[in-house]
Amino acid sequence: MNTVITAAPPVILPVSGSEAGFPVRRVYCVGRNYALHAIEMGHDPTREPPFFFQKNPENLRLPAAGFPYPARSNDVHHEVELVVALKSGGTDIDPAAAMDCVWGYAVGIDFTRRDLQADAKSKGQPWAAAKAFEHSGPVSPLVPAEQGVDPARGRIHLSVNGAIRQDGDLAQMTWKIPEIIAELSKLFELAAGDVILTGTPAGVGAVERGDVVTCGIDGIGDLTVTVV
Ligand code: MN
Repeated sequence: MNTVITAAPPVILPVSGSEAGFPVRRVYCVGRNYALHAIEMGHDPTREPPFFFQKNPENLRLPAAGFPYPARSNDVHHEVELVVALKSGGTDIDPAAAMDCVWGYAVGIDFTRRDLQADAKSKGQPWAAAKAFEHSGPVSPLVPAEQGVDPARGRIHLSVNGAIRQDGDLAQMTWKIPEIIAELSKLFELAAGDVILTGTPAGVGAVERGDVVTCGIDGIGDLTVTVV
C-alpha cells in the first residue's frame, strides 16, 4: 500500500564484519536483573523478581557526534547491558528451546533519566519518559551467536573518562537469557528483529556533557559514547 506521509525507515543495527545489518522490530529491557544493582536501587532481590519495560527501536540510533544529553533531566545515568538480538520468536517458548531464537549479541547502554524515574516511581507512573527517550540505547555492532559466543559468562564493564564505574560478570544475571526469553514470551509474542537489553550490574551513576563513556563485554564487543 502507498503511504499518505513519509516516515523514517526501520532501524537497522550494524553487524560486526558484515555489510548487511540487523533490522529492529521491538526493544525490551529487563529491570533489576543483577542482585547488587537491585540492592543499590533500594530493592530486595530475594523478594522482587526482575521485570520488563521497553524502549523504542529509534532510541538505539546514536548520532555521529555522540549521545545528546536529554532535556528535562539533571541526573542521567549509565547502565551497561548485554544486548540479545532475536532471529525468531513465538509465545510460551520453552526455556530449553529459547537459545534457538537468538541471532546475536552486543554491548549496549540503557541511558536513564534517573530523576524522572524516581519521580515516576513515587507517583506510581510508567517509566517511558525515564527510559524510552531519544538515543537512550546505543549499542555496539552485533556479533553472530554462531561465532561461538558464550553469553552465560564474561566480564561486563563501563568506565567514564577512564575511571571504572561498573565491573560485573554476565554470570551474575538473576534471569539467564533462556529464562528472559521464556518469561517475555508469556507476555508478548516475540519475533525476528526483537532486541532485549538484559539488565545492568551494580555501579550505575551520572554522566555529564563532555564525558567519554567506554564499555564492553569480553568476547562480544566494545562501545565508546561521548556525551554531548
Ligand atoms: Mn537497565
